[in-house]
Amino acid sequence: FATAAVVEEEPITPPVQINHTQHLINGKFVDSASGKTFPTFDPRTGEVITHVSQGEVEDVNRAVAAARKAFDEGPWPKMTAYERSRILFRAADLIEKHNDEIAALESWDSGKTYEQSSLVEIPMVIRYMRYYAGWADKIHGLVVPADGPHHVQVLYEPIGVAGQIIPWNFPLVMFAWKVGPALACGNTVIIKTAQQTPLSALYVAKLFHEAGLPDGVLNVVSGYGPTAGAALASHMDVDKLAFTGSTPTGKVVMELAAKSNLKSVILELGGKSPMIVLEDGDVDQAVELAHSALFFNQGQCCCAGSRTFVHERVYDEFVEKSKARALKRVVGDPFRKGVEQGPQIDGDQFNRILHYIKSGIDGGASLVTGGDRLGSKGFYIQPTIFSDVKDDMIIAKEEIFGPVQSIFKFSDLDEVIRRSNASPFGLAAGVFTNNMDNANTLMRALRVGTVWINCYGVFDAALPFGGYKMSGQGREKGIDSLKAYLEVKSVVTTLKNPAW
Ligand code: NAD
Repeated sequence: FATAAVVEEEPITPPVQINHTQHLINGKFVDSASGKTFPTFDPRTGEVITHVSQGEVEDVNRAVAAARKAFDEGPWPKMTAYERSRILFRAADLIEKHNDEIAALESWDSGKTYEQSSLVEIPMVIRYMRYYAGWADKIHGLVVPADGPHHVQVLYEPIGVAGQIIPWNFPLVMFAWKVGPALACGNTVIIKTAQQTPLSALYVAKLFHEAGLPDGVLNVVSGYGPTAGAALASHMDVDKLAFTGSTPTGKVVMELAAKSNLKSVILELGGKSPMIVLEDGDVDQAVELAHSALFFNQGQCCCAGSRTFVHERVYDEFVEKSKARALKRVVGDPFRKGVEQGPQIDGDQFNRILHYIKSGIDGGASLVTGGDRLGSKGFYIQPTIFSDVKDDMIIAKEEIFGPVQSIFKFSDLDEVIRRSNASPFGLAAGVFTNNMDNANTLMRALRVGTVWINCYGVFDAALPFGGYKMSGQGREKGIDSLKAYLEVKSVVTTLKNPAW
């Protein structure tokens, strides 16, 4: 590995200062009620970056009280929709102004490359915020032609206080998917960030206040899942819960929501998405597409193309070329220009991935390349490929969430449909082919929330995203996301003069 030496070098100093480590509650940065803090780590070295306020039940209670007051007493839900829209647009402008500092915080805390943060993710956050800012004054009701002497209307109203829990793999993108639609609809929010990546949301939430967001409308609590997260999910005064994370935790929060006040829940969970390569396309292009479908963001994507199905006619060539591509993948300090892959998020994930690699080897899959850590410090893992993977192996069934590509052989369309769908997950799928009849068949047959044809991982603010089966419930982004944050009220008025 030519890149092994690079990860041994001294880490590059991130071009940003950390100014905010306390919770943001009711418009102010405050310590935890207990005074406790917890460390957040640099994935390049495993060393502590800084300590952050550790939220627990009392901090969540304070944040919910602030959000409740801001909802019940206003002005946010009662403000004109145009004024809400303007504040959200201003917040997007401020994020744009500070794009590079925010990107640096994001990469420092998560290990994702600075190029990815600054050129892709923070611009996406800005785009999502503007998309929802644009919606704020376009949400309106209906007049329904009902039977009888009645004037019948349907009103769409904000639900109230939204509790939101997000993961570490795309900290600010997840923040935007959740905060954007909730605020645009006039709700107030408490968001609990992932304990691995608390820094960027604090910075950005402050910008919302600079943009004119009233106190209490957006509250950010840092902390761990079973304490701060569970307190939010089970809070009696939270009206809506939005969760992104693993499927097991999704089940836990849904139960907490049901056992408390039966708040409605939207869940974005895990996946084991097929990337299907048919025999008719350019193999080099297919290799590149399947490579990025899996290795993007160190393989830490809910929608990673983690089951690469390749037609038997091109299989051997595909495996050979995928190996060559993985060997060329540049792994190193995420702040170094040209690096494609940084470290995994933390020691837990790092060990989990190495454990899965061992399970692949023990289970009889062929290790094509990689298979070990890279360097001796931090959480870097070699880009790894298994071929001859069988559907019943652990690495074929469970979410690895790391830079480990599993390649499967198939021989016809019906077979690959059946095998792709034989998963409890149903988040996404990729298809590579020039044959549009086959593409159309697959597009309709695959039981997943998103199908990418001759592309992968293309996201758009207007495009709903979410899962079938155990990959989740409900959709985020697009119009569907607004529906998740609105109550529907039917109003029936008897007409004095029904002739008119
Ligand atoms: P996780 O489930 O461990 O944690 C997610 C969040 O839930 C964190 O904020 C965590 O603190 C919190 N949490 C943990 N236990 C909790 C509890 N008992 N009560 C309340 N909150 C709790 O997941 P993770 O490891 O942070 O993220 C990776 C997972 O997220 C993967 O499975 C990935 O597929 C999924 N994910 C899904 C999407 C999607 O849109 N479908 C997007 C990104 C990530």
